[in-house]
Amino acid sequence: MLFDSHNHLQTPRFDQLRDDLISEMRRVGISRCVINGTTESDWPKVKRLAQDHPDLVIPSYGLHPWHLKQRSDHWLDTLVGLLTESPNAAIGECGLDRWFKDHDIDLQLPIFKKHLDLAVHYDRPITVHCLKAWGHLLATLKKSTVLPTRLLLHSYSGSLQTARELLKLGAHFSFSGYFLHSRKAKVREIFRQLPPDRILVETDAPDMRPPSSNYQLEDLNHPANLPDIVDQCAKVLNIPVEQFAQNSRNFFNIASSQK
Ligand SMILES: [Zn+2]
Repeated sequence: MLFDSHNHLQTPRFDQLRDDLISEMRRVGISRCVINGTTESDWPKVKRLAQDHPDLVIPSYGLHPWHLKQRSDHWLDTLVGLLTESPNAAIGECGLDRWFKDHDIDLQLPIFKKHLDLAVHYDRPITVHCLKAWGHLLATLKKSTVLPTRLLLHSYSGSLQTARELLKLGAHFSFSGYFLHSRKAKVREIFRQLPPDRILVETDAPDMRPPSSNYQLEDLNHPANLPDIVDQCAKVLNIPVEQFAQNSRNFFNIASSQK
């Protein structure tokens, strides 16, 4: 049982390869993955992948902070429509980012808050991207009167102190294969301090390529690198392999009878 808690199979970068990638994911034993939409125009593709592979794909819909300018006036209605028509859909990727060029935190904050409110209202898991905006993230969460019960910080790269604050708010954290690079020792050390039942594993394919991978796709991260990433993550964090899939199942609310 292997569970990829975060990828982007809908990316145009996988357009020519997608069917083969999915066959290979199944062949190596991946039984679930969460496909994260990032902008309104890729939501229909995420929805189609979930319809075509209902046993494999959990769809997730959100506006990534890098793509906010492409949103339409009715993005929120569209998002609500997708959530109501598919009860297993999650929310994300959404979040806050002050790392990328020309970021506009004042635009990001209210849009991120809308995602949080939806996660509370519809009781859905929410996946959050945060880079160099930890103060804003903590302030937003602490100001909220009700918080989502399932909040995932994907590819968590904040400090231990921030992680401790987030743990108090009930957050989970996902470890990506990119953190296996030798220069990421500090991130691994932070993950070692987190409670094992709050850690999920992700590929973030096509991004965040691990240092050594069974599957090479030039500069892209192949989603079937997951088993290798999970094994290595289990070793560096000293956590049993099975725990990660169990955590993901609990987080995304998959009954163990359904695998
Ligand atoms: Zn992502």
